Amino acid sequence: DRLIAAEPEQGDIKIDHAIRPRHLADYIGQPRVREQLEIFIGAARLREESLDHTLVFGPPGLGKTTLANIIAAEMGVGLKSTSGPVLERAGDLAAILTNLEPGDVLFIDEIHRLSPVVEEVLYPAMEDFQLDIMIGEGPAARSIKLDLPRFTLVGATTRAGLLTSPLRDRFGIVQRLEFYNLEELATIVTRSARLLQVAASDDGAVEIARRSRGTPRIANRLLRRVRDYADIKGEGHINVAIADAALNMLNVDHHGLDHMDRRLLLAMMDKFDGGPVGVDSLAAAIGEERDTIEDVIEPYLIQQGLMMRTPRGRVVTRQAWSHFGRAPHEDAVQ
Ligand code: ADP
Repeated sequence: DRLIAAEPEQGDIKIDHAIRPRHLADYIGQPRVREQLEIFIGAARLREESLDHTLVFGPPGLGKTTLANIIAAEMGVGLKSTSGPVLERAGDLAAILTNLEPGDVLFIDEIHRLSPVVEEVLYPAMEDFQLDIMIGEGPAARSIKLDLPRFTLVGATTRAGLLTSPLRDRFGIVQRLEFYNLEELATIVTRSARLLQVAASDDGAVEIARRSRGTPRIANRLLRRVRDYADIKGEGHINVAIADAALNMLNVDHHGLDHMDRRLLLAMMDKFDGGPVGVDSLAAAIGEERDTIEDVIEPYLIQQGLMMRTPRGRVVTRQAWSHFGRAPHEDAVQ
């Protein structure tokens, strides 16, 4: 129920097919990733090989799934999708692997959440395109080896550090997605508005972009909410005043911070004197999962310079104190 939650919700999925970029040329921002992939994909196509296994990491909503789809489209191959938590047993992965067509992209979202037994099956599949699996139990158990078609594994994770090193080492290509800047997000909002046939002025698009936490999924979601507001209060036209009024009503502030961000920062100031405070204590103080804080809430706050991770714990910066109109602590970090 968090408007700026980075995880997809039902409404996002409904409009997704209309606005998700299909080709690298439509993938806005991430210039370094785009440039490198263009070369790697071009070279693989030239040699008529499959692309090396690719790991994409970055906070939710930045375009990892989109990139996996684009890789398959640019390579002219099929895509099969699954995710770490869905693959419970070795057999679940084996079933998917044996169903791959030559060259296919296999996308595994949340790959850091694979169970160790499933990971064991993945190693020889990635390395030698072989399935090495035990069937049966006890004395009747035997291992069988099957050849698999060559395929490209695209793995997505919120943080590369969550992967075991044998898994990480098996990816030939590793790409990190960054938060998008204002201009890139405004381009994304304008593009989505056009595809959804919503009238939005440039300054209206910029206002939505400014408050989207550097995240395309949030930008598209705010666009939908602002469109509702514009339909009722603005004759269907989004401009800066309508966008501002709608986002204020929705409690998304000028930095794109919502109640959860504010709760986290305020807890650090009020309960822990600005820090340093350990992430577990913070999680307990605001009643959130530690993973949500680490993967979803704090990356953007850190990127915005509102808080920092230090060896002794999290601290809020001077900028955070002034964001809330308070005098910074004397020893507050810049
Ligand atoms: P992730 O898998 O990282 O959580 P997604 O790939 O599902 O994120 O992206 C979320 C939404 O943001 C998608 O629906 C897509 O339309 C949009 N999006 C992501 N990256 C871009 C981009 N570079 N350009 C335009 N739209 C994007």
